[in-house]
Amino acid sequence: SYRDYVVGADTQIPLVNGQMTKAINFDNAATTPPFVSVIKAIVDFSPWYSSIHRGTGYKSQFSSMLYEEARKMVCNFVRADQGSQIVIFVKNTTEAINKLSYRLCSKAEDNVVLSSCMEHHSNDLPWRDKYKVDYIDIDQQGRLSLLDLEAKLTCYKGRVKLVAVTGASNVTGYRNPIHQIAEMVHRHGARILVDGAQLIPHAPFDMKPADSPEHIDFLVFSAHKMYAPFGIGVLIGPKSVFEESCPDYQGGGTVDLVTHDYIRWAPPPQKEEAGTPNVMGVVALMESMRTLSRLGMHQIDRHETSLLYYGLEKLRRIRGIELLGSHEHQNRVAIIPFNISGIPHGTTAAILSYEGGIAVRSGCFCAQPYVQRLLKIPPEEIKGRIDDPQAPHPGVVRISFGLYNTREEIDVLAALLQHIVLHKKAYLNKYQTISPPI
Ligand code: PMP
Repeated sequence: SYRDYVVGADTQIPLVNGQMTKAINFDNAATTPPFVSVIKAIVDFSPWYSSIHRGTGYKSQFSSMLYEEARKMVCNFVRADQGSQIVIFVKNTTEAINKLSYRLCSKAEDNVVLSSCMEHHSNDLPWRDKYKVDYIDIDQQGRLSLLDLEAKLTCYKGRVKLVAVTGASNVTGYRNPIHQIAEMVHRHGARILVDGAQLIPHAPFDMKPADSPEHIDFLVFSAHKMYAPFGIGVLIGPKSVFEESCPDYQGGGTVDLVTHDYIRWAPPPQKEEAGTPNVMGVVALMESMRTLSRLGMHQIDRHETSLLYYGLEKLRRIRGIELLGSHEHQNRVAIIPFNISGIPHGTTAAILSYEGGIAVRSGCFCAQPYVQRLLKIPPEEIKGRIDDPQAPHPGVVRISFGLYNTREEIDVLAALLQHIVLHKKAYLNKYQTISPPI
């Protein structure tokens, strides 16, 4: 069973009544637990690790060899073209996008970056202070509007340099048709960045599909959402982009020759990885990719989609539950956002945790403009919130599945939700002091 693949799937935790229960983790969009194989790989590698690149010792050379091998493995995992693209190891998706935002920066003031109304803040804010940013619109259900993308690409007449879109939303789970988007973007002479944070751990991904001329220019993702630890992520892009200009972080590892008045930068990717690299993180990521490949990304996708279908059906049947966005399970990773009418999102999340041992997340999930749109918050209310920093944030409850979650766990959630709906007043009285997280 998939259950045996992750660490701590059956951890016992206390409930508010003092009883112990099996923890249920429906917060995999934030971070997944590590694979058992990943922890083992870290332990197995630990006698051998050493600082990489310039060490002549056996361990350093061994570590360096593995570290460089990992770049090839990443390329194979997402079918990147090893000839033209490079893999840069970073801390996480956020660092990857920030790095790219500096690297693409051109002095030309009329360069436009198209982000979208469904992006995580990490794929929106880094662009704002460096480019003119515009946002591809979404439809009533919160899906990306391809019509609006085409309209914007046309209307900016070649000024769009980059279209930065998510592979899958961390709020609704919607998957974007990225290769179709890539075709549109390239037709207008721009490049595409795919934020793969929510897609890469859950579905197969080809940067360059064998049966299509389209390719993805830039891809970013985080290992901590794919059953490996925090602190390691990936930025993939055309080598040529990183050959020009200075790196954003400068220091050890980034240079080839330095005098007091001269710097010759090392070639990328070394130029982009300032300081001593995270070798253990890279070893962990390698093992997570190996394990995911062994399990099969298509199988994982199918399994998680069936959990999503099951969860949506269960929640739909509970009167008083308001599902956000589409009720469909197609073209979507396994994320369900909802509210219980009459109960603040933070209170619902607290009740699920204290009464059922169920970990979920509530709030806006670092996608405030998207959640504001999905909740149809009037502009004057948003304006009011700008003027009053103390005003509570709107939000929703989010459940997000990993490959090790089960239908039985969804049954436990559905039963508790049903109970909360039936005894709303009692729960509200008990939990009225819990304030929602931002
Ligand atoms: N993009 C998306 C779609 C995400 O879900 C997340 C994480 N919630 C990020 C970017 C940022 O990832 P990280 O925190 O690992 O940098």
